[in-house]
Amino acid sequence: SESFANWTRKVGPSETADMEERVDYLKRKGENIYSFALGMPNFFTPEYIKNGAKAAIDSNKSFYTATSGIMELKREITHSLYEKNNVDYKTSEIVVTNGGKQAVFDALYSMCNQGEEVMIPSPYWVSYISQTKLMGFKPIVITTSEKNGFKVSVEDLKKAVTDKSKVLILNSPNNPTGAIYGYDELADIAKFCIENDLYVISDEVYSEYIYNNKKFISISSFEKMKDRTVVVNAFSKTYGMTGWRIGYSASSKQLASFMTILQSHSTSNVSSISQYAAVTAFDDSVDKSFKLSHLRSDFKKRRALADNILSEIKGFKYILPEGAFYFWIDISEYINKNLSGTVMKNATDFANIVLQNTNVALMPGDSFGDSSHIRLSFSISEEKIRNGLLILKNYLNKEM
Ligand code: PLP
Repeated sequence: SESFANWTRKVGPSETADMEERVDYLKRKGENIYSFALGMPNFFTPEYIKNGAKAAIDSNKSFYTATSGIMELKREITHSLYEKNNVDYKTSEIVVTNGGKQAVFDALYSMCNQGEEVMIPSPYWVSYISQTKLMGFKPIVITTSEKNGFKVSVEDLKKAVTDKSKVLILNSPNNPTGAIYGYDELADIAKFCIENDLYVISDEVYSEYIYNNKKFISISSFEKMKDRTVVVNAFSKTYGMTGWRIGYSASSKQLASFMTILQSHSTSNVSSISQYAAVTAFDDSVDKSFKLSHLRSDFKKRRALADNILSEIKGFKYILPEGAFYFWIDISEYINKNLSGTVMKNATDFANIVLQNTNVALMPGDSFGDSSHIRLSFSISEEKIRNGLLILKNYLNKEM
C-alpha cells in the first residue's frame, strides 16, 4: 500500500461537513429535505456588510494584507472584545484567521508539543479531536452529563489532568449542548488552570446566541487568565458569513506572533474583501433590517416552537439549550429497537432511517463523542421547523 502520513490512518473527513454535502446532494436531486443537521444560521449576509465588500472591491482592496489582518479590523475587534468580554486587548494581540476553525488550529499548533495532552470536554465540536490528532497531540476526553448541565467541573478536571496536560478547550455557548458556563463555574475552572499551568482555548463563536438574558462571560476576563487564554470568535454564525471564512483570535502578544508566523507560511492573510466586509459588520446601526438583538429574539422563538413539538415525541429526552442553536437529544430509548425494519445500533442508524423515511435530516451524536444522542439544529425558518418536526413526530410516535 502507499505510504502516506500516519495521520491519514487516524483522521477522517469532518462528519458534519459530510452530512452537509449529503443534504445538499439530496436537495439538488429535487428532494424536499427538512434539514435540522446544519451548523449554520439560515439568514443571508446583511446588506450593509455586502455593501462593505462591494466598496472594497470597487476601491481595489485587492492586494495581500498584513498576515495578522488589516489594522482597521483588528482595532474594531479590540473594541468589541472590550465591550463584550470586558478585556482590554491591543491590536498586536489579535490575529484574523480563516474562520474560527483556523484560529483553533493555529492556537493548538503554537501551544503544544508532540505527545502533550489537550483536555476536551465531551460532547465536543468534532474538529477539536481531529485537529489534535492531526498534529500528533493527545486528546483527553472528559465526559460531561445532563446532571451537570453538560458542563465540566473542577472535580472532572482533577481526575483527568496529568503532567502532560497543556490545554483545556472550553466552548461556551456549547455546540452541541447549548450549555453556557456561569461566573462561579468559570472562576473555579480559571483557578484550576492557573494552579495546573494549563492554557485555555475559549471558543466563543456562539456568544451572540444566548437565550437566558444573562450577559456572556469569557474565561479570559478572570484575573491572570488573559495571557493564558486564546479567545476564538468568528463572523460566521454571528453575521451569516460562514462562506466568507473569517474569524479571529485574541491572546498574549507572544502567542499571537507565533500564530501569525504559522499563518504566514500556510494561508497568508484572510481574503482582503472578507476583512473589509468584516470591518463594516461591527456597525449594525446603519442597517434597520439586521440587528443582533433581533437575531436573538428570532432564535428564541424558534427554540420555543421546536421545544413544543419535540416535547411530544416519544423517547426524546433533552434539556432546553441556553445558547447556540441546537437541541442535544438523548435517543437511547430507541437503541436496540426496531425502526421501519432495522434494529438501531446507534444514533447514526437512527439518523439514517429517519432520513430515509421522513426526509428529516438530523446529525448523529457519534461524531460529537456520544452515540446515544442526536443534534438538532433550529437555525432554519419557523415554517420548516414546524413542518419538519410534525413529520418527525408523526413517524416516531407511530413506530414506538
Ligand atoms: N467552533 C464551533 C464550536 C463551531 O461549531 C464552529 C462551526 O461549526 C466553528 C468553531 C468554526 O467556525 P468557522 O466557520 O468560523 O470556522
